[in-house]
Amino acid sequence: MTSKDGYSWTEAQGLRAGVPSIGVIEPPTNVKSGDTVYDVIVVGAGYCGLTAARDASLAGLKVLLLEARDRIGGRSWSSNIEGYPYEMGGTWVFWGQANVWREIARYGMQDELEISYDFSKGINKYLLSSPQGVQTFTHEEEDALMQSALAKLVNVDGCLGRTVVPFPHSGVLTPEARKYDHMSVADRLAEIKNDLTPNERLCAEAFVLLCSGGTLETTSFYEFLHWWALSGYSYEGCIDYLVKYKFRGGQSSFAIRFFREALASGNLTYAFNSPVSKIQHGGDGVQITTRVGKTYKAAKMICAIPLNVLNDVAFDPPLAPGRKAAATTGHVNQCVKVHAEISDKDLRSFTGISYPHNGLLYGFGDGTTPAGNTHVVAFGGQHNHFHPEENLEHTKAALQGFAPMNIQRLVFHNWSKDEFAKGAWFFPAPGLLATHLKDMRARERNIVFACSDWALGWRSFIDGAIEEGTRAAITVRGDFAGRAKL
Ligand code: FAD
Repeated sequence: MTSKDGYSWTEAQGLRAGVPSIGVIEPPTNVKSGDTVYDVIVVGAGYCGLTAARDASLAGLKVLLLEARDRIGGRSWSSNIEGYPYEMGGTWVFWGQANVWREIARYGMQDELEISYDFSKGINKYLLSSPQGVQTFTHEEEDALMQSALAKLVNVDGCLGRTVVPFPHSGVLTPEARKYDHMSVADRLAEIKNDLTPNERLCAEAFVLLCSGGTLETTSFYEFLHWWALSGYSYEGCIDYLVKYKFRGGQSSFAIRFFREALASGNLTYAFNSPVSKIQHGGDGVQITTRVGKTYKAAKMICAIPLNVLNDVAFDPPLAPGRKAAATTGHVNQCVKVHAEISDKDLRSFTGISYPHNGLLYGFGDGTTPAGNTHVVAFGGQHNHFHPEENLEHTKAALQGFAPMNIQRLVFHNWSKDEFAKGAWFFPAPGLLATHLKDMRARERNIVFACSDWALGWRSFIDGAIEEGTRAAITVRGDFAGRAKL
């Protein structure tokens, strides 16, 4: 099946909108009657909504899953093109992420992971490209440079940030944490400007921007410390947790397991291609209206819609003021992720930073395609932001910013223009979490709001989406406590 989402380009085919994915659901709906009153309607079939819909339907609740797109997975989905999986959004997982690993074990997928890096071929180097030219390092030198740069950035307490974020899965921000949440990474860099070497500064800035997809000014320093704490307070941990292990069959091979298990319960009804436009709720239940005017009713609702598009849905009564304000502020991540299949086999082992001049600032060899070509993945963000499909020559030039390469194919999803995401993974500007984390997580009558964007632990990650879907299903099950199967 081909999704409407995503783009691919080759010289022969030109730019094409829509790429194939096993996450596309056919038939798009199994709704039989418009009159059913469901126990719970889940809106959004990303990992959060899929987890919630599965757990609620397995608990015996009659569940309706509504999704705007033609596919499952939301911001995590993969395309398979000529036998090779390209990750359009969320990609890497790690066994240290408890929620994700519970699900990988549940579906017996422990042996379906592979390592992105292969440091055994060709240009086995770290290329640090700046307006001053290209410097070349070994990967060991790269690690040492990154570790020293990031250690200086996070070392606000002489303990590499441990006292500021002692419990990274806690929902309580300590006074110190709140202080750093009101600070941007640009503020922190100003404090340590005399401590960093020029190369450390390049590395620290590019790595932070890889994480936030924003600018140094719009990146909360606390949230960077939070990622650092989650990753075991080390650069080595960041690599293990953030960018190393991915599914051989792509993310959609994982997400589809959730959907199939929910369906097998016999309690799941679903409708894809169903953007929700209005949600009315009161003491006795919820009525949901789609853009084409279909209405659905339920006793409860799990709203798994991302923060940046929550205000596009009309709520009646309106969203609570704190949640509304958080959604108006939104998160800052406008990550540009581009895959290139290139014929240069010797670039399989490169990693690189191309900063601050380039549109893509962080890239590396991520695999070898069945044709024997190298797969490179590269990331940009709000810093020098661009839309990859608008000017393919610019996109290719941004890739060439790491090293000269012979580009055969491009694959990407423009998350900034995606009307059901309006951005990539959650990353907050200064002040958002200190002011609104509680608001984003609060329940409103019969609606439970759940999303990776306001998870407590791996907020912004697949793990956080599953954490939140689990919480939402447990909450709704609690509402039905006393019913026979629960
Ligand atoms: P979503 O996946 O966004 O799901 C929300 C769903 O709601 C979507 O399917 C959307 O279509 C639907 N929806 C929105 N509006 C409506 C509406 N009005 N009506 C009906 N449906 C609606 N995480 C990692 O763990 N590892 C990574 O390597 C990683 N890399 C990433 C790279 C990129 C480029 C991106 C974009 C994300 C990445 N992430 C990564 C983050 C991860 O993908 C997300 O945090 C996670 O998938 C979010 O899941 P979710 O279910 O909370 O939200």
